[in-house]
Amino acid sequence: MSPLFTAQLLTIFPEMFPGTLGQSLAGKGLKDGKWALKTLDIRDFSSDKHRSVDDTPAGGGPGMVMRADILGKAIDAAKANAKPEWPLVYMSPRGRRFEQADAVRWQSAGGVTILCGRFEGVDERVLEAHDVEEISVGDFVLSGGEPAAMVMLDAVVRLLPGIMGANATLDEESFENGLLEYPHYTRPQVWEGREIPAVLTSGHHKKVAQWRHTKREELTRIRRPDLWSSYVRDKK
Ligand code: SAH
Repeated sequence: MSPLFTAQLLTIFPEMFPGTLGQSLAGKGLKDGKWALKTLDIRDFSSDKHRSVDDTPAGGGPGMVMRADILGKAIDAAKANAKPEWPLVYMSPRGRRFEQADAVRWQSAGGVTILCGRFEGVDERVLEAHDVEEISVGDFVLSGGEPAAMVMLDAVVRLLPGIMGANATLDEESFENGLLEYPHYTRPQVWEGREIPAVLTSGHHKKVAQWRHTKREELTRIRRPDLWSSYVRDKK
């Protein structure tokens, strides 16, 4: 069976992968060949004996920048392995914030090529020349793109058929239909004086569904006014 999804990573730390993606459900899926992970070591495209990939920034200033010529060769090699429909993305705090919709889009593309930056980042020309999409994991600065890539790939892999198991309820989760998820409870019935909301143990499925929907709306309205206003707008 060919994999349902392939992640191709350009990195100077290939040994960081599969990392967390080698454990639990994603790890089992990887072992079973449901999805594939390939790393390309950017240092393999360097031509000096130190295998260096970075240089000082033009215009001065602190830190180092990953060189366009070396990254260009690495991206060419990655493109040769990739299908044309796979997105080519650079992990970057300047990028558009990764969302559930991106996870769905990558999954249906069947693969993705991810460039993980280090140092101060990459030479701008390589992003322009290859029309690379910049994607961020959030408004904070990491020391490299590898942990960001793992976060995003985790979100993609769990969407693949057969990864989450038969009881998966992916369609009721946070961000599906533009709402956050309702609260969960399980045994014991009473814990430290706190009871499970009575409706959930009533056996009345329709009332349970109504309660959950109300909670989803309530939580979204209070916690995420941004999601709430799009939800209200789309409902009209
Ligand atoms: N000088 C850059 C930060 C470089 S951090 C700036 O101020 O924008 C080094 C690398 O970590 C980046 O090249 C990028 O690949 C990765 N990285 C850092 N923060 C990230 C984030 N929020 N999302 C995705 N990748 C990030």
